[in-house]
Amino acid sequence: MSLIDSHCHLTYDALAADPDGAWQRAREAGVEAAIVIGIDAATSPRVLEFVAGYPDLFAAVGIHPNEVGLAGSNDMARIAELASDPNVVAIGESGLDSYWDRAPLDRQRGFLEEHVELALELDKPLILHIRDQYPLAAEMLAPHAESGLRGVIHCFAGEGHEADPFIAWGWPISFSGILTFPQANNVREAARRTPLDQCLIETDAPWLTPRGHGKGPNEPAFVATTAARLAEVKEISLERLAEATTANARRVFGL
Ligand SMILES: [Zn+2]
Repeated sequence: MSLIDSHCHLTYDALAADPDGAWQRAREAGVEAAIVIGIDAATSPRVLEFVAGYPDLFAAVGIHPNEVGLAGSNDMARIAELASDPNVVAIGESGLDSYWDRAPLDRQRGFLEEHVELALELDKPLILHIRDQYPLAAEMLAPHAESGLRGVIHCFAGEGHEADPFIAWGWPISFSGILTFPQANNVREAARRTPLDQCLIETDAPWLTPRGHGKGPNEPAFVATTAARLAEVKEISLERLAEATTANARRVFGL
């Protein structure tokens, strides 16, 4: 069995001290590839430097909605420059986040539009981080979806029905360790609504450690726990779930 972690932050926070060790443990746990995500212009070069050392690691570059308050006027130009790196398979993460409320929503919207333009220009998928703003995101993104934007809804955490517009556009929905949290019936409902060929799995490591791995930081090796829970929710075998999500990730990101 082989899995792909579609979203992790191997060079940040608790994983920054030894990303090589975390990736080695993931390989031993059957994770065959991962997308390592940048969250701003200043730290995305480190992501590119790290993934360049491994044939099975790929990158996304962008400015996280929680970081746009600190972003300078040239930072999107810098992201566009970094996006020409051959290991960059997606733009992001970008989006709207009113849960953490670290930047004014209007500023988040402006940066999201700029990420959309870049993704369309480079014909790469846009990785979307959305918290508490699924209806507004759907409204903003609908015209772009019509003109060919390919999006990935990372770490879905809304009400089940809030995934519907994105599913209708054919966009993949990525499920994180939240799927294993006892109270997350909304996320399990979204998983039931998402066709198997649009399901992705991710850790969002070092955050959102799945149940059963203690209180320590998350790491890509633990994506298997989320895969097992998603297989239960979809009422299919883990083997079939692994095969489908791995094929989906390869197709979506062109791996
Ligand atoms: Zn992330």
